[in-house]
Amino acid sequence: MAYPETLYRLYGHEDEYPALDAEGAFSRLAKALAFRTVSGDDADGASFAALQDHIRASFPLIMGRSSFEVFGRSVLITLGGADPALEPIILLAHQDVVPADEAAWTHPPFSGYMGDEYIWGRGALDIKGMMFAELEAVELALLEGLEPRRGIIFAFGDDEETVSAGATRLAAVLAERGVHAAFLLDEGVASPIDGSLFGADGRQIQGLCLSQKGFLNLRLTARGKGGHSSNPFGTTSLEKLAHAIASIRDAMPEPMLTPLLRRALEELGIDADEDLLMQLARSEEGYPYVADTMAVTQIEGSAPSANVLPFDAIATINFRLLPGHGIDPFLDLIRRAAGEDVVVEVLHRTPSARQDDPGGTLYDALRQSLEHFYPGASFVPLFMCGGCDAIRYERISRQSVRILPYLVAPEDGSRIHAVDERLSKRSYLHAIRVLRHFLDSCCFS
Ligand SMILES: [Zn+2]
Repeated sequence: MAYPETLYRLYGHEDEYPALDAEGAFSRLAKALAFRTVSGDDADGASFAALQDHIRASFPLIMGRSSFEVFGRSVLITLGGADPALEPIILLAHQDVVPADEAAWTHPPFSGYMGDEYIWGRGALDIKGMMFAELEAVELALLEGLEPRRGIIFAFGDDEETVSAGATRLAAVLAERGVHAAFLLDEGVASPIDGSLFGADGRQIQGLCLSQKGFLNLRLTARGKGGHSSNPFGTTSLEKLAHAIASIRDAMPEPMLTPLLRRALEELGIDADEDLLMQLARSEEGYPYVADTMAVTQIEGSAPSANVLPFDAIATINFRLLPGHGIDPFLDLIRRAAGEDVVVEVLHRTPSARQDDPGGTLYDALRQSLEHFYPGASFVPLFMCGGCDAIRYERISRQSVRILPYLVAPEDGSRIHAVDERLSKRSYLHAIRVLRHFLDSCCFS
């Protein structure tokens, strides 16, 4: 069955929460997309301040009951709960977006364009859509006269797409205040995918990501001293670099099934055997879930012409390490493999996230809300291959789950960080309902 058709079959209970003001929600999100909150590219912070004004003006019931604090450009909105014995939950998102090549877009990326079916703009999917869905869900509950029993903290960083300093700062503020959250929800993967990837043919599966892979950028430098290519002695810097890259590739750890993936397969009733591991390792979609990956992303150092020996040759490699795989032992492995002829420098490192246990009241509540609104789909514990801010809050949160409650067709998913990013209105309402249902069961009851 064609993908959009299987996708549309996953929309369930669209009649719930009739008080949801769909048109208002669409225009509030569209307006949010018009602010150019490009990560690291808003010198005076005016776009972030304007977005924050828009948030304050859009959600009067939340604002009337909460504290709204700005740290640098990051935002903390604290809505207290009636029962002080209950630890709060944290709803994450980030205000920043990646840049957009404006000329290539069908509708300008910062215009807040709204069509019949879609809301267009940079950040629609990543991740102003989720930020506003979180706010809409809580505002709607307050509008219906519900009062939170458990506190809700919105934490919106301002540089998730670059260095996550905003999230680090917000987490430090919360830690200083002695805040400890029972649960944290952040962006993750969107839309169930066909289960054949995991050997569960015909089933629709989505990961509730309880960890995220580690991130490591290394720079390799091979020294060269130039000269005429008629008189090379030994290998050139480029050859040394190429040799080191090939040796690192050969030394990369074998694919493996991590505990979270094993748990997912167990819940799906699938044998986590060697055959399945090989099947995953051989598929483009499956490979990142079973392997520490490496990608040589940048290389420089060519000589100006073919008969000149090169000076220093430099490569940048991005590695993503499976949860549980430490960066230091991995670095030892890479240094040994790279050999004496290249210098290895660490440009950036973020360890893999803690692997939280699937289960518990709040995890189960989220899964039940998802299952309610995605009839027939299965939600299983998994981890994220990309990064997000959740890792910055580990100290102050018992359990962190990353998921995007959107239904996004593949052709739209490929627009994230690319041209013509857009969120379908139907999917946006769906996300608000999922979040509201979850919050009803854990905060408003
Ligand atoms: Zn994001």
